[in-house]
Amino acid sequence: MTTSREVRLKSRPVGMPKAENFELASVTLGAPGPGEVQVRNTWMTVDPYMRGRMNDVKSYVPPFQLGEVLQGGAVGEVTASNDPSLKVGDLVQSNNGWREAFNSPAAGVQKVDTHGLPPEALLGVAGMPGLTAYAGLLKVAGLKDGDVVFVSGAAGAVGSLVCQIAKLKGHKVIATAGGADKVKFLKEELGVDVAIDYKASKNLSADLMAAAPEGIDVYFDNVGGEHLEAALNAAKPFARFAICGMISMYNASAPVPGPSNLAQIIGKQLRVEGFIVSSHWDMMPAFLKDLATWHAAGQLTWKQTVREGIDKAPEAFMGLFSGENFGKMLVKLS
Ligand code: NDP
Repeated sequence: MTTSREVRLKSRPVGMPKAENFELASVTLGAPGPGEVQVRNTWMTVDPYMRGRMNDVKSYVPPFQLGEVLQGGAVGEVTASNDPSLKVGDLVQSNNGWREAFNSPAAGVQKVDTHGLPPEALLGVAGMPGLTAYAGLLKVAGLKDGDVVFVSGAAGAVGSLVCQIAKLKGHKVIATAGGADKVKFLKEELGVDVAIDYKASKNLSADLMAAAPEGIDVYFDNVGGEHLEAALNAAKPFARFAICGMISMYNASAPVPGPSNLAQIIGKQLRVEGFIVSSHWDMMPAFLKDLATWHAAGQLTWKQTVREGIDKAPEAFMGLFSGENFGKMLVKLS
């Protein structure tokens, strides 16, 4: 018998999630049945999209259920196997995060090769957030020579890779993040041309226009709200907007008014396109190939913010909404 602690959704958050919305419980796992494996998670991810799943609303992913263990990406090690396709010690990835260990049909987990990267990179730079950056910038925004690129949420998991890909391809990059340390990171470690501390800015639109007097060709939106309004004001005719996320609205308890200047989409003939990374899994092999090349050439940097222990998972998740993370927010489980 194995004991596993797990985090369940106790109540649906209203506004900012709070500790009382989560509960830590213990379950006992028997030996895996025929065709099953037992996995001990070593890392799990917390991601902003999980906030949407905590609401009882229809979306592109179903809501989490009250009283049930939460779900999300995790990597772990097979500790017992009752299926020939996997053996003890295999590294696997699954959607069974928010728990220390679990039994699963072997087909419910995916054996992975890290290609020399640390396993937790599969949850960040070499996983879903990394592909989001790559597909959003190169395919959705259709990055092309000479583009001036504006990225919001730029010090996070997705944004920090968007900045780097755009810089590697020779573009002028303007990036926003909250706080002086993040601005320093954007300038000194990611090499962006202009970094704006949106929390200190008195007029984001004016600051963006000063950073890009020539206008922007691409906006990679992670934040929405005031950032989107500023990007619309700074957009050149025919600019392309890849709408990836709008984290500034995820905890709103009442509908948030849209930008006041949406009509610029018409006059400037902008292309504003939302996307979901799962529609772009076909780009994963090309992404991993490029990532490996950049990594081998020493051209990539990625940061992680790590909380230790399953009991810290809610705190890690909540920290996403107060900007506690540099790069990918992760929880180390064993
Ligand atoms: P991050 O690692 O960027 O973490 C979230 C960051 O958002 C925080 O560190 C904080 O940075 C910033 N933030 C939080 N609240 C606000 C706010 N009110 N206003 C402005 N910034 C805020 O997360 P990810 O990189 O994982 O995700 C970034 C965005 O991409 C999210 O909107 C997410 O939902 C979206 N996403 C979309 C996907 C898709 O398929 N479309 C897939 C993956 C992610 P700071 O300190 O700078 O405020």
